[in-house]
Parts: sequence; C-alpha cells; structure tokens
Amino acid sequence: MPPLPDLSQFEWLVLGEPCSVNGLTTDELWSQIQEYQTQAPAHWPKTSQTKAMLDSALAKLGALGLVRSLSLEGAPLWLRTTEGDLTYNWKKQLDWPDPGPEPRAGETGHKKSAEPCDHFRPFRPAPGYCWCGWFRSEHAPDAQQPKGVNP
Ligand SMILES: [Zn+2]
Repeated sequence: MPPLPDLSQFEWLVLGEPCSVNGLTTDELWSQIQEYQTQAPAHWPKTSQTKAMLDSALAKLGALGLVRSLSLEGAPLWLRTTEGDLTYNWKKQLDWPDPGPEPRAGETGHKKSAEPCDHFRPFRPAPGYCWCGWFRSEHAPDAQQPKGVNP
C-alpha cells in the first residue's frame, strides 16, 4: 500500500461520508457532518467547522483524486473514487491493533470481486467480510482460515 495521504481529522471525516456507490450533495455532506458532531460523545474534542472548511476539504480531496463530483441539476454530487474507497478503508483497517494483510491490487473493500479469493483476509470495517468483497463462508473451505492474522 502507498503511504496514506496527509489529511486532517476533519478531512478524514469528510472522506468517510460518501462512498463510490452512494454520493452525497454538498448540503447532505454538511448536515451529516453536523449530525456527527451532535452525536459525538461529550469528551470528544469539539471543533468549530464551517461550510468553507467543507468546501476546502472537498477541493483538497478532489485534487488528491480521492473524491469526484457529478453535476446533478446544478448541484454537485460527491462520490469517492476507487482510490478514495481504498484509502479510507485502509485507514480504518489500520485502526485495528492487528490490521492483517494488505488488500490485493484492484481491491477497495467496496467492490466485490468476480469470485471469492483463495485466502480469506478480514476486511476490518465490515466484520466477516474479506477484502475480496465476499463473506468468509462463501470462500472455499481451505481458503476460510486466515493465515497469520486473528480473524
Ligand atoms: Zn476473499
């Protein structure tokens, strides 16, 4: 895996909202982020975020190729790129004490391969799933045991 881009906590938060399948308008992104702040536990650091910060975060993520926008009746619809899915999911994977093997080429965690792979590799953001996009029990019996990693 290439090193993760240098993003602020807020930029990671913004990258976490849309995915490559379900896009969000800027207004939807903004209300999701505000809701997230409201629901955050009281001991979490509160940052004052402005819509200008959201715009600049989206511009930065776009320049890095992690998000793209489609024009929807004049309003942009934000989607993560394949690279954005992979970057975000790998960042989440690294939050585990034992992240396990890296995804293989072409895998993002949000895309199902044509068939289950030959070696189950736990995709931490979705328990029970492999980086190949298939559930553990959908793998061939001898491919279900992860090697060198706690399931
Ligand atoms: Zn697999």
